Amino acid sequence: MILFKKAADLSSFIDNQRVMNKKVGFVPTMGALHAGHLSLITQSKSDNDITVCSIFVNPTQFNNPEDFKKYPITIETDIKLLEANSCDILFLPSTEEIYPPDFEKKYYQLGSIERVLEGKHRPGHFQGVCMVVERLLNIVHCDHLYLGKKDYQQCMVLKKMIEITQLKVNIIVAETIREDNGLAMSSRNQRLSNNEKQKSLSIYKALNHIKKNLKPGSLTPIIEESKTMLIESDFLIDYFEITDSNLNEVSNWDGKTPLIALVAATINNIRLIDNMIIA
Ligand code: AMP
Repeated sequence: MILFKKAADLSSFIDNQRVMNKKVGFVPTMGALHAGHLSLITQSKSDNDITVCSIFVNPTQFNNPEDFKKYPITIETDIKLLEANSCDILFLPSTEEIYPPDFEKKYYQLGSIERVLEGKHRPGHFQGVCMVVERLLNIVHCDHLYLGKKDYQQCMVLKKMIEITQLKVNIIVAETIREDNGLAMSSRNQRLSNNEKQKSLSIYKALNHIKKNLKPGSLTPIIEESKTMLIESDFLIDYFEITDSNLNEVSNWDGKTPLIALVAATINNIRLIDNMIIA
């Protein structure tokens, strides 16, 4: 694996590869890598000639300074994992490399998608996500960008950003990887105690409860039951919603519209998100 710390060095390396018709896949991450991240690397490896992973804990997407400060950093282990998974390139930039003094901040017109769910509960978060991913894509000139469905709304926001900026990149969304017991893998899980991990299973159980018991008509009772499951496991709920595939809330189901359930909740100040296609 080749390690790049400088944007210009990485760009020229990739451009040389593309001149030789090599396909480039890109997996942006914030590190503390787990099997979810590695599944994106594996998929990129099978679709492309070269796979680039970036590790950068992006300060502009954290609306909560405490969350940023406590974000797990495990760079030595990450490098070993990437090497063991035959990743070709690791981009490990400094903050100054991503946001140089002449970096021009812009505002992305994301529309209503930024005002619901994560957007509503984490003001400015998606502007920060768009800012860093656009910057990264301007460094890593890739053919395919790999994202995880676990961050369903983020995938939609980044599709919109690519539409707005007219960047030529194809987004590939990969399935959520879970622990054997169902807990969605997340870097933040590293901060959970064993007891909190056990309690966190209630998120997956609540999503499954909805999927199994879904029926046409009012969705309020089933949402309330699921919220209770989380509250009984000591979670504070940011949101628990059922929406259509465009993230419009659905409170009465016609029995036909495809549905997704999305949840964000915190335990001991550790914020977890998950979602499930339920119909
Ligand atoms: P992060 O390091 O949390 O910013 O995540 C980097 C990428 O990995 C994002 O596209 C995430 O959606 C994806 N990802 C995170 N967790 C998982 C998971 N459990 N399964 C699949 N992809 C994931």
